[in-house]
Amino acid sequence: MEFCPKCETRLVTKRKKDGKGCYLTCLKCGYKKTVEPEACTLKVTAPKPQDQLVVIGKKEQKLKTLPTVSMECPKCGNNTAYSWQVQTRGADESSTQFFRCTKCNYTFREYS
Ligand SMILES: [Zn+2]
Ligand SMILES: [Zn+2]
Repeated sequence: MEFCPKCETRLVTKRKKDGKGCYLTCLKCGYKKTVEPEACTLKVTAPKPQDQLVVIGKKEQKLKTLPTVSMECPKCGNNTAYSWQVQTRGADESSTQFFRCTKCNYTFREYS
C-alpha cells in the first residue's frame, strides 16, 4: 500500500486503458505513479459481451448494424423496420422496443 507523496492520501490502483499494467493514482490531488506490469495485481476483467442495448438519440449510430423486423411503418406503409430496444430508467421497468422505417426513416415505438 502506497501513499501520495504530496498529500498523503492513500493511492488507488487503476488499470491502464491499454490493459497492460496499471498505475497508482491519488484521487485527491491527481498524482500518478506508474506500476511495473509485473507488479500489477489487478485482475483483468473480462470485457462484457456485446449485448448492450442501443440507445436512441445518438445520430452517429450505424443503423445498418441493427436487425430488421417485419413491421409496418405507420407513415409510409413500408413493411420493414430496424429494431432496437431502449431500457427505461426504472430498473424494474421493461425496455421499450423502437423501430425505424428502412424506407422513410420514420422512427416509432412499439404500440402496446
Ligand atoms: Zn495526493
Ligand atoms: Zn416509412
